[in-house]
Amino acid sequence: MGNVIGIHAGVFVGGWQPGQARRAIELAAQTGYDLIEIPAFNAAGLDVDATRRYLGESGLEVSCSLGLPMEADIASSEEGARAAGEQLLNEAVDFAAAIGSRYVGGVIHSGFGKHPAPVTDHGRANSVETMRRVCRRAGEHGITIGLEAVNRYESHLLNTAAQTCDYINEVGEPNLSAHLDTYHMNIEEVDPYRAILDTGDRLGYFHIGESNRGAPGAGTVDFDKSFAALDELGYEGVITFESFSSAVLDPNLSNTLAIWRNTWTDPVACARQARGFIAEHGFPIPDRAD
Ligand code: MN
Repeated sequence: MGNVIGIHAGVFVGGWQPGQARRAIELAAQTGYDLIEIPAFNAAGLDVDATRRYLGESGLEVSCSLGLPMEADIASSEEGARAAGEQLLNEAVDFAAAIGSRYVGGVIHSGFGKHPAPVTDHGRANSVETMRRVCRRAGEHGITIGLEAVNRYESHLLNTAAQTCDYINEVGEPNLSAHLDTYHMNIEEVDPYRAILDTGDRLGYFHIGESNRGAPGAGTVDFDKSFAALDELGYEGVITFESFSSAVLDPNLSNTLAIWRNTWTDPVACARQARGFIAEHGFPIPDRAD
């Protein structure tokens, strides 16, 4: 199988200062992953040279993800917020291009967090219009944009795969894809297996997350069904393990994600266990010469 197996940097570190970048990249490689997903919330402030250097030394591939702060929500009715969101997305695309990432995704379609009311028609149209410009700009760098369908407490716009596919069709850009996550599907989908198959070739990125955001296998997600759907679909893209514990996570992100307790305390043990779990589902750990 041609899938690239990744891990979210948030398993190892709470930020992306050069020391954290080095540690996360080294540990991701040591624990058997092919790719590291970098949180690019404030991409203009991240160190491109250090990131490139550590990635080059490790041989890892890389992706970037972020969530838009509420004051930079591109689905907002306020022009200032939309402009701020578009700028953050453009900066994330620029960072991704500079470090050799071909993917920028996450909760980039709407403000990341619990909204006080449903999205308005106007807000949704604003998001679609902005996303079209972001996609065209990203396309010039060969970058695919991924819309993560997330649970109702983290977005009021895209909670299901079907909503995400409708939005993709409306934007109408070839480098816009759906990003599905087992944790979120477990909350919002009638049938995650069906949701994956119905997404079809619009699926561009996949997150493995347990129902409690902890270690895979220690929760209620039916991973067998999700892996079976990916196999049936012939999905050959990235599959990234995502898990959060307040033992490691940046306090701001921890609060937005409502991580109120330690789901685990040893990041390296968690990463190894998760990689073993993924291997058991048909994605063996490659032998590395180093
Ligand atoms: Mn996710």
